[in-house]
Amino acid sequence: MSESPSSRAAGLLHLRRGGLSRGDAIPLPLTMASIFHAPGDSTGFHQYGRFSNPTWDGTEEMLSRLENAPTLAFPSGMAAISAVFFALLRAGDHILLPSDGYHTTRILADRFLGAFGVSFDTRPTASFLDGGFDGYRLVFVESPSNPTLDICDLAAAAEAIHKAGGLLVVDNTTMTPFGQRPLDLGADIVVAADTKAPNGHSDVLAGHVASRNESVMAAVREWRTTSGSISSPFDAWLLHRGLETLEVRFDRMCTTAERIAPRIKAHPAVRSIRFPGLVGDPSHNLASTQMERFGFLISFELDSEEKAEDFINGCELMAAATSFGGVHTSAERRTKRGDAVPPGFVRLAVGCEPAEELWAAIKNSLDRQLP
Ligand SMILES: *Cc1c(COP(=O)(O)O)cnc(C)c1O
Repeated sequence: MSESPSSRAAGLLHLRRGGLSRGDAIPLPLTMASIFHAPGDSTGFHQYGRFSNPTWDGTEEMLSRLENAPTLAFPSGMAAISAVFFALLRAGDHILLPSDGYHTTRILADRFLGAFGVSFDTRPTASFLDGGFDGYRLVFVESPSNPTLDICDLAAAAEAIHKAGGLLVVDNTTMTPFGQRPLDLGADIVVAADTKAPNGHSDVLAGHVASRNESVMAAVREWRTTSGSISSPFDAWLLHRGLETLEVRFDRMCTTAERIAPRIKAHPAVRSIRFPGLVGDPSHNLASTQMERFGFLISFELDSEEKAEDFINGCELMAAATSFGGVHTSAERRTKRGDAVPPGFVRLAVGCEPAEELWAAIKNSLDRQLP
């Protein structure tokens, strides 16, 4: 059932082929419409922009092919995560979240789910299986976790969670479907922020939910239609365009990260580093079996907040920005976002610049941080 990454990437670019009539545009047309011609019986075609749109169809077809599962598009990663929570959880449910990982997911649970009678516990990603999963209706994990890049054994977690009667939701944003396939490892639901590498050009927010469980997808679709948590057709069209080059960009980004991570590690201005691709990293062994690539995020610590800021702002080929996965290499000092990391902790998101040019710029800026 599982297709090789290369044949998935090749097929992805020709998905529209079978549905084309003579004279149709080869690229996906952008349909900006809230209403559609709808005389008579109103089933089987587009009716209204909150229910469906032909441009979403093209984008979701690509996302489904990537995930090898039915997929629904959302206007942001958080909209996708919210859809899963609000469509599936009921008063009295307990859920488990990572204590590290993307902070807004915890804020969402803390600020909004409690009011509806849903309570949550947290646990570090690195020891996520310790303590078992009894009593949790839904378990949410992000692996590798943002920003410390700890990982969790997804197949073992899925098995234990299913034995305890729960659902496993994996936030696969840091890896994309070309780097890791949580549904094939046993997860029930994948959520992702397509704002990051899938769009890849830092000009759109987007997200998706994928699952092979029909009742899950029916509930998530009903939530989307009813709540109005929908993408604009233009944003969906831009995401579609980004997805066409995801495999090329992701490959370049991961290859460059593998090349420069050992050099960053060896640089005397660097105190410590986390990258799952480095032999000896706590995530390395599990990453080698569970992931198809090691990703493009590298986290490391400099001596102080000042040195970290100087490094980021002084590097010629680096954008000082939050978020990751765009064509431009970017970096951020993560205490700025409230992550529980040291003040000199930098999350570097490798972009699409040629590797040796990028390394020369990074080395230059690291050299300036030496005492
Ligand atoms: C960015 C991100 C999100 C949220 O995505 P938005 O599009 O900003 O809503 C969720 N999870 C992870 C791991 C992220 O990096």
